Amino acid sequence: MSEPVTAAASEVATELTETAEQVDVIVIGAGVIGAAIALELRRGGVDCLVVDAHIPGRAVSEISFAWVNASTDKTPRSYRELNLMGLEAHHRQHDAGEAPWFHPTGALEVETGGHLGAGSVYEGGAADAKYDDLDGRAPAVSLTAADLADRELSAEITGGTLFPREGWVDVGHQVHASLAALPAGRVLAPLAATAVTTSTDGPSVTLADGRVLRARQVVIANGNGAPALIDGLCPGLSLLEDGAESEHVGLSIETFPLENLPTSVLRSHGVSLRPTRDGGAVIADHATAASFSLSDPELLDLPATLLARAQALVPQLGEIRARSVRIGPRVWPRDGRTVCGWLTEGVYVVLTHSGVTLAPYLAQCVHQELRGTDVPELVDFRPYRFQKG
Ligand SMILES: Cc1cc2nc3c(=O)[nH]c(=O)nc-3n(C[C@H](O)[C@H](O)[C@H](O)COP(=O)(O)OP(=O)(O)OC[C@H]3O[C@@H](n4cnc5c(N)ncnc54)[C@H](O)[C@@H]3O)c2cc1C
Repeated sequence: MSEPVTAAASEVATELTETAEQVDVIVIGAGVIGAAIALELRRGGVDCLVVDAHIPGRAVSEISFAWVNASTDKTPRSYRELNLMGLEAHHRQHDAGEAPWFHPTGALEVETGGHLGAGSVYEGGAADAKYDDLDGRAPAVSLTAADLADRELSAEITGGTLFPREGWVDVGHQVHASLAALPAGRVLAPLAATAVTTSTDGPSVTLADGRVLRARQVVIANGNGAPALIDGLCPGLSLLEDGAESEHVGLSIETFPLENLPTSVLRSHGVSLRPTRDGGAVIADHATAASFSLSDPELLDLPATLLARAQALVPQLGEIRARSVRIGPRVWPRDGRTVCGWLTEGVYVVLTHSGVTLAPYLAQCVHQELRGTDVPELVDFRPYRFQKG
């Protein structure tokens, strides 16, 4: 098991030796997805090299609310099942002492009638899909207002639902501990991959410093940077939405330590909170952030709105002070579901929303498919469903 890593991200960065020998697998991108794949391959004895254009873990993964969930609004059935397998993979690894970054605190969803202070734009969640036979894998416990009375929440709460299997991930911890498990010289960052090409000798990755690295297989896991690599390799295959448009904008706030912070993930109409390792909170609301585009000046007012809602939801928190606000485009496949599979001989791609939930399971799937065995659960998530013509 890897020890928790608290070193600054930049300390993880290492340099490749002068002449790179060929490795088994090059993983492009070191967010939650690339880092989970690298760790899984390493544990399976595969020699892999990770390349990241910036500081690992600092792109979309750092903005994430990082709630591990298998909510009932995930459709179709195969996507809900994928998320259930993600949740189960987190528990398996955590129980084995292999994922100290997963905090299985449970998640509490409370009903407030939508009155969490001025400016709430919440208009109700997606209709829950009914796959009743799957519900036992992520049980939900209904709670009345009386059940919640001792939790120091808003007096307006009328009831709620507890999801005891859910939790959250410390993404920085996951990324840096995973990369630290690789041998020295196997993480190149900051250094961008500028092209992926294939020939009869197998795939190659061109780096921004001009070097060309060969590998038996390449995994493209670089989130919103993927189209720039895939366009040259598979013309006409457009996998991601433009993340700058509204609906795909993400925003989260990290606070300084707070008093009386709920120990579980707490979700409500208009705002969600979850603890951080140092006693602070991450605060976000998908529906509200998604009503802005990245160029909207009003987006800058959103942090104050969310802090006011958090205060209204948990009045005992005391003064909430923001340590940082993170804004950016989500990784959003064109139908909102995961993309996972071969692009061409030797080149594999993984792009997904809900990547924090899915990372450990997708990493196992990728490892299996790189070894030559198809994972039937991925059949609905292949990249070529988006092929034009
Ligand atoms: C506000 C918000 C809340 C969210 N909440 C949740 C949640 O509660 N639960 C959940 O499961 N998911 C959630 N998500 C989704 C989840 O965070 C993402 O699916 C996940 O972080 C994507 O990870 P990634 O590794 O694919 O991408 P990224 O984290 O973006 O990582 C990609 C990496 O690739 C690197 N890169 C890019 N281009 C290149 C290149 N050319 N060469 C080399 N490296 C390159 C980047 O530097 C980056 O480090 C949320 C997302 C947002 C924005």
